[in-house]
Amino acid sequence: MLIDGKEISKLVLNDLINEIKIITNKIKRPPSLNIILVGDNPASLTYVQNKLKKCSEIGINGNLIKQSKDVKDQDISILIDRLNKDKNVDGIILQLPIPSHLNDRKLIETISPLKDVDGLTSTNIGLLSTGNPRFIPATAYGIMEILRKEKIVTQGKRIVVIGRSDIVGKPMVALLSGKDENATVTLCHSKTKNLRDHTIDADIIIVAVGKVNVLTGSMIKDGAVVIDVGINRVKNENAAKGYSIVGDADLGSIKEKASLYTPVPGGVGPMTIAMLMKNVCEAAKLN
Ligand code: NAP
Repeated sequence: MLIDGKEISKLVLNDLINEIKIITNKIKRPPSLNIILVGDNPASLTYVQNKLKKCSEIGINGNLIKQSKDVKDQDISILIDRLNKDKNVDGIILQLPIPSHLNDRKLIETISPLKDVDGLTSTNIGLLSTGNPRFIPATAYGIMEILRKEKIVTQGKRIVVIGRSDIVGKPMVALLSGKDENATVTLCHSKTKNLRDHTIDADIIIVAVGKVNVLTGSMIKDGAVVIDVGINRVKNENAAKGYSIVGDADLGSIKEKASLYTPVPGGVGPMTIAMLMKNVCEAAKLN
């Protein structure tokens, strides 16, 4: 059965709309999110615009701070420092990727952990890995919300996470292997040998790779749950833009065997944006 991420995200956002009214009353301004976008990467611009659109729909004050592609590390860290000190700023995002002459890790570390709504500073990663999360990276947070809303039990289950990024794979492992979820988690990546040996026994598989058909029906057991994070463009001459968006899992063969699966688009994607909005509200409450 298909998991409707759009519907679940609407439930999250509806709850947030009420919460935002309460927060706005309390702090005498709406919660605010500031996104720093370096350069003119069209994909990044689309992601940022989607975030800002959602902000305005639900009553968050979203600001875009554009920087030229030639900007220096020092200019960005001065900007972040100013945002850190600004009492009217709740959340700060440095939209990744940034041009390669910049040091992304060093710059992320300059964001105040209390405003790091992407949950990427070492402090927030540390809090998550010790079981006391402050800001959970939005995609991982969205997957947890899907599991909760769909009443998918994780305790004692075998879970395979494919992909070890800081924004999806690693936080998923930290969350699922912790004492709240109590799953037995295997983390797979590009150097994993015989991926199927791991996936075939898994009760839940989370795939976040960015390659088409990394997971197929023949690699999963009957009744498994498949959460597909991947976003891939494939050529499609019948589509208006000349391409379609698909996930990492081969939906045709997966849906024959999975008990539950998320589609792409319409699965994890809408949840990511909803949970980012939730993180901004949490940041505003810390003010
Ligand atoms: P990423 O940083 O792009 O890294 C990809 C991961 O996949 C790496 O850990 C890599 O292993 C692993 N990998 C590559 N080929 C593999 C293979 N054949 N078998 C097993 N593992 C393999 O990861 P990401 O940022 O999490 O993004 C992954 C995908 O999710 C992308 O398509 C991205 O667009 C999408 N995404 C979607 C959302 C959403 O909201 N829906 C959010 C975030 C990301 P190594 O570490 O060994 O290189």
